[in-house]
Amino acid sequence: MTFVITQSCCDDASCVPVCPVQCIRPRPGDPEFTTTEQLYIDPGTCIDCGACAFACPVEAIFPEAELPPSQADFRDINADYFAAHPLQDVTPLPIERRRLPRTQPELRVAIVGAGPSALYAAAELSEIRGVTVTILERTPTPHGLVRAGVAPDHERTKLIGDRFDRVLRRPNVICLFNVEVGRHVSVAELLRHHHAVLWAAGASDDRRLGVPGEELEGSISAREFVSWYNGHPDVARRHFDLSGPRAVVIGNGNVALDVARVLARPVTAFEKTTMSDLALQALRSSRIEEVVVVGRRGQALAACSTAELFSLSRLPGVDLLADPAEVAVTDRDLQAARSGAAGDLARRQAIIDAAAHRRPASPRRIVMRFRLTPTELTGDQAVSGIVLTRPDGTTEALETSLVIRAAGFRGRAAPGLPFDSSAGIIPNDGGRVVDPGTGHPLPGLYCTGWIKRGPTGVIGTNRADSAETVASLLRDVADHRLTEPPDGPEQLVDLLRRRQPDLVDASGWGRIDEAEKHAGRAAGRSRVKFLSTYDLLLAARGEHPR
Ligand code: NAP
Repeated sequence: MTFVITQSCCDDASCVPVCPVQCIRPRPGDPEFTTTEQLYIDPGTCIDCGACAFACPVEAIFPEAELPPSQADFRDINADYFAAHPLQDVTPLPIERRRLPRTQPELRVAIVGAGPSALYAAAELSEIRGVTVTILERTPTPHGLVRAGVAPDHERTKLIGDRFDRVLRRPNVICLFNVEVGRHVSVAELLRHHHAVLWAAGASDDRRLGVPGEELEGSISAREFVSWYNGHPDVARRHFDLSGPRAVVIGNGNVALDVARVLARPVTAFEKTTMSDLALQALRSSRIEEVVVVGRRGQALAACSTAELFSLSRLPGVDLLADPAEVAVTDRDLQAARSGAAGDLARRQAIIDAAAHRRPASPRRIVMRFRLTPTELTGDQAVSGIVLTRPDGTTEALETSLVIRAAGFRGRAAPGLPFDSSAGIIPNDGGRVVDPGTGHPLPGLYCTGWIKRGPTGVIGTNRADSAETVASLLRDVADHRLTEPPDGPEQLVDLLRRRQPDLVDASGWGRIDEAEKHAGRAAGRSRVKFLSTYDLLLAARGEHPR
C-alpha cells in the first residue's frame, strides 16, 4: 500500500521533512519545486507510515485504498511522476534550527498583511525564542486569499486557515486587524517600534487587457467576482448581471477555471459551502447556460493546472466542451512538452480531446476555446459582445452580456516603499527591499509573497518564499544590520487603538470566527460569512450581527 497526494495539494511541503524514507518530490530547493503543480509520493518507496497525511494541512493525502472516487486518478498521477523523475537522492534535507544571536536576544518584526505569505512568515518567525511579531491587516479578518480567493468548493484548501489560526494565537504574535498601513500608520512609524517591517500584502490590482470596451458595464475583473462570491466586504453587495445565456471568461489560468466552475455548476454544489449568501442568492436565479473560457495559448501551454482541468471535466451537471478545430497539438506544444514547460501534455490532451468529441447532454456547459486573443469588447453602455482574434488575423464575434477578465493579478505600490511598476513588484533581493537606483538593500525593509515574486504559485508556494525572506532577515540580524527601535510594540498598540477605535485583535477575530462557525452549524455549513465590515465589527465585539 502507498499514500497518494491528490488535487488539493497546497505545495507547502509540510509533508516533506516528516517522511522517514524521503519519497515525496519535488522538495524545496529542487529545480522543479517552484513550478510544480503539486507534490507526489513514490509508490515504490512509500512505507505506508502515514506521517505525511498527518502533517498535510489541507487533508490532501490519502491511503491508496481510501482514495475518494473523484481522486482515483491521482494514484497514476503520483506513479507517473516517478516514471519520469526516478527517485535518486533520499538524503533528508537538513533541518535548520533558527535562533537569534546572543548579542541580539530580542527581535520585533511588523508584518503587513495577514494572507498566506504573511502568515507563513509569522509562523517561521514566531517559532524563534525572543521574537515578537505584529501583524497588521486592512480588513477585520485574516487569511487573505484563503478566505477571499480560494473557491468555496475547494473546502480542503481552506482548511489551512486552521493552521494559520494557531499561529495567530501564539503569545508572541500581536494581531492588529482593520488597520491600514499608509492610512492609520506609516511604514516609518512601524520602524520606530520594530527592528524590521515585512510587507506581505499581496497583489491587489488586476492585469489589464488594454482593449477597447474593457471599461464597459458587464466587464468585470475576476478579482472582483471571486471576492464577491467569497463574501469580501469590499464587494459583497455588488450586483453582477447573470441574466444572459452566455458568460465569457478571459484567460485560462486556475482563476479562470474557478470562475467558470462557479458560474456553471448547479448552485446546490455551493449551498453547504462558505460561499456568500448574497452570491448564492444571485446564482440561484442565474440564467447562464454556457461559459466560454478564452485562452491565448493552446491547451498544452494553458496557464491552468492539469488537475484543475481534469476536475472540470468531471463536474456533475456540466459538460466540458472544446472546439475540435482548436485542439490539434502543434510542434510548439511538443517542443514545450519536451522542455518540461507543458506540464502533463498527454493527460491534458486526453481531457481536451474528450471535450472536443463530447456531445452536450447537460443543461450547462463550459467551452474551452484556444489560441484566441480578445481584441474588443463591444456595446454602448454595457457589454453586448466580444471580438476574438485568431493567430491568422481572422476574427470571431461572440454575443455576451458578461465578460470576466481573469488575466492575472498585479501588485500595487506600497506606501513608503519602492515599486517596480513594470513588474508590479517591490524591487528586492531574496526578500530584502532594495533601492531601485543603487540596488542596495534598504535597512529593516523586507517583502514576501506575490508583491515579492509576482502573482504566481498556489497557497503553499508562499511557505518557501517566506522562508527565504525570513532567512535574509535573520542573516541581517546576525550581521547587525538592523537598527534598535526606540519604542516597543505596546506603544504602537496604544497609538493605533486611539487612531482606529475599531481595531480588531486576536480575540476579536476569535469572536468573529466563532460567530460565523456558529451560524454555519445552524445551517449545516462550515461557516456563514458576515458580509459587511459593520457586521464583522459587531461580531468582533461579541455583539450579534443583524
Ligand atoms: P495566471 O495563471 O497568470 O493566468 C492568467 C491568464 O490570463 C493566462 O491564461 C494568460 O494568458 C491570460 N492573459 C493575460 N493577459 C492577457 C491578455 N492581455 N489577453 C488575454 N489573456 C491574457 O493567473 P491566475 O489564473 O490569476 O492565477 C494566479 C495564480 O494563482 C496562479 O499561480 C494560479 O495557479 C494560482 N491559483 C491556483 C488555484 C488552484 O490551485 N486551484 C486557484 C486559483 C489561483 P497567457 O498564458 O497566454 O499569458
